[in-house]
Amino acid sequence: MPELRQNFFTKEWVIIATERARRPEELATRRAAQTVPSFVESCPFCAGNENKTPPEVLRYPANGEPWSVRVIPNKFAALSSDVQPTRSLQHLRRRVNGFGFHEVIIDSPDHSGCMAMLPDAHVARILGVFKERYNTLSIDHRINHVTIFKNHGADAGASLQHPHSQLIATPVIPSQVRHRLHEALRHYDDAGECMFCHLMEREVEEQTRIVVKSELFVAMEVFASATPFATHIFPLRHMATFGEITAAEITDLAHVLRSLLAKLYVGLENPDLNFTIRSGPSDNVGARHFHWYVSVIPRLTRVAGFELGSGMFINTVLPEAAAEFLRNVKVDKATGAGLGK
Ligand SMILES: [Zn+2]
Ligand SMILES: [Zn+2]
Repeated sequence: MPELRQNFFTKEWVIIATERARRPEELATRRAAQTVPSFVESCPFCAGNENKTPPEVLRYPANGEPWSVRVIPNKFAALSSDVQPTRSLQHLRRRVNGFGFHEVIIDSPDHSGCMAMLPDAHVARILGVFKERYNTLSIDHRINHVTIFKNHGADAGASLQHPHSQLIATPVIPSQVRHRLHEALRHYDDAGECMFCHLMEREVEEQTRIVVKSELFVAMEVFASATPFATHIFPLRHMATFGEITAAEITDLAHVLRSLLAKLYVGLENPDLNFTIRSGPSDNVGARHFHWYVSVIPRLTRVAGFELGSGMFINTVLPEAAAEFLRNVKVDKATGAGLGK
């Protein structure tokens, strides 16, 4: 029987269409394996082409050794830090000047250095840079929210192949975030607990949707997943904002995130995907009702009329089957290289 499932957090309903159920492996891209070169002359993000980007915001390491991660302002920024976030309201039309920060984090000097295949230690450096930029921009009192995300592949919105992530800091809280915060606060008021801590405890007990669990993080398929293989990674320790992550947690998250990306890369043959760090707003440090997490969404299906019209998605892969499939994809512990299925 098909089943409707409600997302505990967003309250959105999805249809898990078991009648049309597809085995997880049927969603593999069947893409021919591509050899990506380490250096591309025309690529502005490749090592040696630093003069083709705007002046950098930071580089890691900063001691003059060759860089392994660089942050630069986005050349085609959606928002500008040169204006003030002046607000206006005319009738029902609310506006704010286009103030904000839009930065690119170049994951690696190597054009072929896809995050799924990088060593854990390198992914930890990238996450450390995320934290540094998150905390620096969060101090700015004009900034209300910082979104860190990755677009991997053309269907996920990536316009340059060189592996990179992005950060957009805005003077407003996006309504999607605000809605989630309200739901989390409502649950906290009703039940006196963080809804995510509660969920994690149950999920770890039940096991069926768990993909990877480490000492400090857990990656799981979403119970009411709107699209196939939507996966969330939660810190086991309660924390409302990403900026609160410790050095030990960065090391652990690097391993869990990279393992998950490697499993998707090997199991589904390098699907296009997005990931986002869903953090509470900058001033939510220490809040008890919200719990940050990483949301990983492979872009395997297209949004059609019913989804646009109703906001309700039809998912043809059972989240429990997706979890089992990913648990069984073997990847090298240290580098993510595929060891077969
Ligand atoms: Zn490049
Ligand atoms: Zn919590």
